[in-house]
Amino acid sequence: MSKQQDYVLQTISDRGIKFIRLWFTDVLGTLKSIALAPAEVEGAFNEGVGFDGSAIEGLTRRTEADMLLHPDPSTFQVLPWHGDDETARMFCDITTPDGQPASADPRQVLRRALDRARDLGFTFYIHPEIEFYLLKSASPGPDGLEPVDQAGYFDHVPGNVVDLFRRRSVRLLEELGISVEFSHHEAGPGQNEIDLRYADALAMADNVITFRTVIQEAAAEQGIHATFMPKPHSKWPGSGMHTHMSLFEGATNVFHEAGAKHQLSRTGRQFIAGLLHHAREITAVTNQHVNSYRRLWGGDEAPSYVCWGHNNSSALVRVPTYKPEKSRSARVEYRAIDSAANPYLTYALLLEAGLRGIEEGYEIPDEIDGDLRDLSERERQVLGYKNLPMNLDEALALTQESELVAETLGEQLFDYFLTNKQDEWLGFRRQVTNFELQRNL
Ligand code: GLU
Ligand code: MG
Ligand code: MG
Repeated sequence: MSKQQDYVLQTISDRGIKFIRLWFTDVLGTLKSIALAPAEVEGAFNEGVGFDGSAIEGLTRRTEADMLLHPDPSTFQVLPWHGDDETARMFCDITTPDGQPASADPRQVLRRALDRARDLGFTFYIHPEIEFYLLKSASPGPDGLEPVDQAGYFDHVPGNVVDLFRRRSVRLLEELGISVEFSHHEAGPGQNEIDLRYADALAMADNVITFRTVIQEAAAEQGIHATFMPKPHSKWPGSGMHTHMSLFEGATNVFHEAGAKHQLSRTGRQFIAGLLHHAREITAVTNQHVNSYRRLWGGDEAPSYVCWGHNNSSALVRVPTYKPEKSRSARVEYRAIDSAANPYLTYALLLEAGLRGIEEGYEIPDEIDGDLRDLSERERQVLGYKNLPMNLDEALALTQESELVAETLGEQLFDYFLTNKQDEWLGFRRQVTNFELQRNL
């Protein structure tokens, strides 16, 4: 038993915890959970817990696949919303019965990418801005999307349900060891944003999965509904998950260079070049639903062209205003990702794209000053600016050809992911929409 495992066993007995939930996700990042009795935890640490691993393919059950869940003791937390039935959770790593990392486990994909970065001397830090909508009805149907309020960007609405909601969710998150940097009302009616304090990428991917559950628990407590759907209403802005990244070598932020433009080092510029170079082929992962592409329509502060800039809401990659000189920090914001993305796969791909830029010395294109949306399609073409894919089909075609994505996800997960998403696209293809009925009936 390691020290951490001992601590977990001790806490379970001291606090009289009755259920220990083992958490993992499928290829899409959907949270899965198995509740373990306290007496089983020691065995779980020693040998793992057997389960049907076909659940992680994210498809309906076809075959049984014996796999083992290995709880990660560093992720042990008591869940603050279970009242008398004290319940805790641990995230798990999944292996085959002979101890090999399960090839379809998204957490392993991220671990692998982080190991590679560590071999190069880097730690990868993430800070997400997570947007979501709050709807009045606890179980809204497609026709009844009534937001909880009509407020807008940064509006302060004292005493209303959203204020209460945000305070409660921030408290729950802090109790789970997830630090919140700030929270505010976003631009859409009922839309909110919560920004998490930066953490290393694996901890942050776990945090994002936990975050979604916390937000949904907090909403349920108040009889409302929280949704991370990328674009729930055609008239409202979408819900993005802009993601700030930095690479450290020991205690040094290697994106930072005092006196350089935007305080951005050569390594930082190469990392951005990698992101831009591979942006189109990773979009099916950062924006994994048919609905994701409604958000990237070309407006509402969501990006739709592959470019970078400093203070520009149409840019895919942004270098935010640097902090005071002595903080020696610089970070890079990737703005395509939406709130329904799988954080494990997304962070692995962002990291690998950026690392390619560094390893292969990609040249960064010129930054843009104006707004690319003010140019015509033809002007953008002449200047060489590419679109992000316009729908899931186009995105999947690019991903399917991507060596970077295949290598990062590993052959099997790559396959599961593509099959799963192609299913979604085929299902969508035969839908008749209201738009068509209005135009053509
Ligand atoms: N909601 C916007 C998006 O979909 C982001 C707004 C903002 O800049 O925070 O990306
Ligand atoms: Mg925002
Ligand atoms: Mg942002």
